[in-house]
Amino acid sequence: MNIIKDTEKIVNPLQESALNKKGLCDYVINVASGCLHGCSFCYVPSTPAIRARQTELKQKGIVNPQMDWGNYLLVREEIPEILEQKLARKKTWRETPEGKGVVLLCSGTDPYQNAQTAAITRKTVKVLLKYNKRVRILTRGLLWLNDLDILKSKNVTVGMSLPFIDDKLGRTIERNAPLTSQRYEVLLQGSKAGCRTFVALAPTPPSMKLDHFKANLEKIMVINPEVIFWEPINARGTNGKRMIKAGVDFAHSVMNKKVWESTFIRQWDELEKAAKELGCLEKLHIWPDPALRGCISDDRLDRWLYKPTIEKWDRSTAALKTAKIDRARYKK
Ligand code: SF4
Repeated sequence: MNIIKDTEKIVNPLQESALNKKGLCDYVINVASGCLHGCSFCYVPSTPAIRARQTELKQKGIVNPQMDWGNYLLVREEIPEILEQKLARKKTWRETPEGKGVVLLCSGTDPYQNAQTAAITRKTVKVLLKYNKRVRILTRGLLWLNDLDILKSKNVTVGMSLPFIDDKLGRTIERNAPLTSQRYEVLLQGSKAGCRTFVALAPTPPSMKLDHFKANLEKIMVINPEVIFWEPINARGTNGKRMIKAGVDFAHSVMNKKVWESTFIRQWDELEKAAKELGCLEKLHIWPDPALRGCISDDRLDRWLYKPTIEKWDRSTAALKTAKIDRARYKK
C-alpha cells in the first residue's frame, strides 16, 4: 500500500482518558490518526479510535486500517485553535490522584513523528501552558529537541519509548521509528538542557533478560529520568499478525497466553532485581495487565493499578474538580 497522508477534522481534541490507571494522565490529545512509525507490536489499531472508524478510514483509501497500520497519517491541523476555544470556556478540570490532571500527547500516535505533527504539537503545548495545564509528551521522535524553549517548563515532562537500546532489533520490530541509540542520545540531550524526563522501558520483547535490563537501566540512569515505566509486549487485536508479517521471531510466544504470562512475570522479577542492584527501584513504575489476575497475587497486581507515579508536579496547577473514577472492573 502507498503511504496515505491527509488531514481530518475533529470536534473535541481534549478527551478524558482511562490512562490514569497507568499513572500517565487524565486527558489525552492525539494530533493525528495513524502513525508512520508503524511499530509491529503497536496496540493502537486495536483500540476503538481505529476499530470504530473503519468505514470512515476506508473512505480515505485505507483499505485495512489494522493491517495497514504505519502506512497512513491523518493530521488534525485545527487542534490548537479548537483547544484554545475549549479551554477558554472550560470551568472544571479532572484531576484524579493517579492522573494528576496531566494531558498526554499522545496515546494513539506519535506527536513528533514528522515536521507536520511536530508543528501542531508545539502549538498545542503552547495553548496548554497558557492555561497552566500539566503536559506529558510521549514520543519515539527526535524533533522535540527543537522545542526545548517551551518544553523546559516545570509543567512539562518529556518521555521517550526505550524498551531496549539495540538498533538491529529496533529495525525489525519498529520499522520506521528513529533508532533506539538516537532516541537515547536525544533524551540525554534534553535532560542535560534542563527538561524534566521519563522513560517508557516499554514494551519489552520476550528475549530480554536480567543482563539486558541491567545494561539498559545503567544507561537510562545517566539520563536520570523521574520515572521509568515498564510493560512487556502484550498481544492485542491484530498486533500478533502484524509481528508475524514483519518477520518477528518471537511473535508466537507473545500470542500464546501461557508463555506470555510466564514471560511477563519473569521479566517483572528480573527488572525489579536489576533496578534494585542499580539503586533505582523507586523510579520503576510497572504497568501490569489485569489479565494476569490468578497468575500472581492480587496484592502485587493491585499495588500498581491506579498507583500515582513518584513524579512531583507544581502545586500551582491545581485541580478545579476531582473526578470519580471506576476502579471496580480492575478488581476481582
Ligand atoms: S510510535 Fe507509538 S503510536 Fe506510533 S506505531 Fe509506534 S507504538 Fe504505535
